[in-house]
Amino acid sequence: MARWLEMVQGTERCLWCDATFEGNMGWGWVLGIAQTTHLCGICSGQLQRIQELTCKECGRPRVGELSVEKGIEVGKNNVGGKKNADIGSGSKETTSSFPEKKKLGVCSDCQRWKEIEPWNSLSFQHRALYVYNEFLQEVMARLKYRGDVQLAKLFTDDLRKLGRKSFGHFDYVVPIPLKGSRHWERGFNQAEALAGGFGQVKELLERVSMSDGKQSKRGRVERIESLKGAFRVKDGGVELKGKRVLIVDDIYTTGATIRSAAAELYGGGAAEVCAVTVARGIGKKAAESLKT
Ligand SMILES: [Zn+2]
Ligand SMILES: [Zn+2]
Repeated sequence: MARWLEMVQGTERCLWCDATFEGNMGWGWVLGIAQTTHLCGICSGQLQRIQELTCKECGRPRVGELSVEKGIEVGKNNVGGKKNADIGSGSKETTSSFPEKKKLGVCSDCQRWKEIEPWNSLSFQHRALYVYNEFLQEVMARLKYRGDVQLAKLFTDDLRKLGRKSFGHFDYVVPIPLKGSRHWERGFNQAEALAGGFGQVKELLERVSMSDGKQSKRGRVERIESLKGAFRVKDGGVELKGKRVLIVDDIYTTGATIRSAAAELYGGGAAEVCAVTVARGIGKKAAESLKT
């Protein structure tokens, strides 16, 4: 079918697999998927929306009956069924995906962060849309390394809704910057593209060039040490004092990168810093390899 005809008739193509699907009719429409995710039913069925948390700070997800801290198989049992009805349908803002904060504890990772400056005196919260499963690894790789920037559209609306629902109002939304050379190579920063749904995006941070090394080969303490001072607040930027700031990035793995950026924003005077990401890594080594 010709593209113009598809558009007239309301048929869209899946941004991932390019299959045509009914943009304005059918199950996708009924479930509120097609309009918000630009994915066909099969592809959206491969995304695992984070429904339940086990940690009120880092937003560690609970998947199925098992806590991800114990390690689980992801990417299974997620096709069809009630859970998928909620995927990408962030419009149902009255249906909170998150239990009351008071019912949630703090995971062992976050407790360890509290032993380190400046987290012994500062708060930090993060929420992600999806579990970082194999499908999402492929989507992120195509977005980041093949420069398919329109894939960011799959997430921008839902990231904004997640940020608002979880943390309320923000003065500034700050994408995690890429290293200068990478930005130049790729021509765009995926975190910036993902923050596209927010109105108040400010590139307040920049990377500080540091000795490099494969993140995944380092231990936790080394990694945290190496990321201290990885960012700085740009000169001549906006006034941060007393402001609420939301960081946006693609993937949350150990949280070290985002916390390093958050520490810098607090250092610049921010009153509160939170973060949202598309994908929450659950400790798989493979997930680390994509993280920059
Ligand atoms: Zn598809
Ligand atoms: Zn935690």
